[in-house]
Amino acid sequence: MMTHALLSAAPVASPAAVLTVGIDVGGTKTSCVVTDANDQLLMHEVEPTQAEQLPEQLAALVQRAVDRIAADARGTIAAVGVAVPGRVETHSGRIALAVNLGGRDLDLGPQLERELGLPCFVEHDARAAAIWVNAQHSTAADLAYLAIGTGVSTGIVLNGRVLRGANGLAGEIGHINAEPGGAPCACGLNGCLEVVAAGPHIARLAREAVASGRPTALPSDPSAADVFRAAAQGDALASELARTVADRLARAIRALVLTLGVNHIVIGGGVAAAGEALLSPVLAAIDAERAASPLVDAAFREARVELLSPQAEAGARGAAQIARQRVTARQREVVSER
Ligand SMILES: [Zn+2]
Repeated sequence: MMTHALLSAAPVASPAAVLTVGIDVGGTKTSCVVTDANDQLLMHEVEPTQAEQLPEQLAALVQRAVDRIAADARGTIAAVGVAVPGRVETHSGRIALAVNLGGRDLDLGPQLERELGLPCFVEHDARAAAIWVNAQHSTAADLAYLAIGTGVSTGIVLNGRVLRGANGLAGEIGHINAEPGGAPCACGLNGCLEVVAAGPHIARLAREAVASGRPTALPSDPSAADVFRAAAQGDALASELARTVADRLARAIRALVLTLGVNHIVIGGGVAAAGEALLSPVLAAIDAERAASPLVDAAFREARVELLSPQAEAGARGAAQIARQRVTARQREVVSER
């Protein structure tokens, strides 16, 4: 990457003045934020993801943010962080296997650096969110951030360190089996957790149920949000769907708690906008498992399961935080080399 040469030629900004752009690329929506050194939000923009023209779209988004911050005389952007799904190589900025973005390999970080002339850091979306959520809690060092949006995945922090795994795919819980013989998944398998619990699949299951002619207040082409809203209002079909989703999510959360020993689970992503209508049946399903099993009960005794609104923009803010930390560390390196 070009950043050492770039930074050694540029004046070194004081740490307080470091503004960074953070972008969270979802399968459906892409969010862009600008935050300052104190993690204060200076700008926020959301637009539909254009998976086919991703580098071009992201470069245009960043450029708009850079221009707006400059026009408002609020400082200059020092670096960019991008949170993306799939297998992310943080050292090279390459991404691969993002099945909900078409799955093609991209040299995303280097491409954006060439286009923008700014240091760009790429991180896995759920890990970026987990890093930001973890930073909000001074004491929470073990955390699983379960992102439920167009896909399902987890960002895991253990002993304060983010878990990547030797294969770079740690936390891809969306592709564990939730329904043997279930519907096909974008990853190539059948019955993955994603095909039950991700937003587009909740909508698909609801559409199929409505088409079967069962009485319901749901529209003919319902969204995941419609399902949880109708369930909260007592619609029987929607409640059944919401309980199924909650049951599969509770099993996934049990798997996280039992395999990782984490005591803090945060559910985020677009589907988390459903709020209590999602959280209540998830907690009820966990309680039912705890009542049936002293072992599961012991595993959950210290555990907190909570919801984070997608409006918190944890992924984008985490990406901005990572960019800030890494560009500040590089600036220190450049200064010490002089
Ligand atoms: Zn899958």
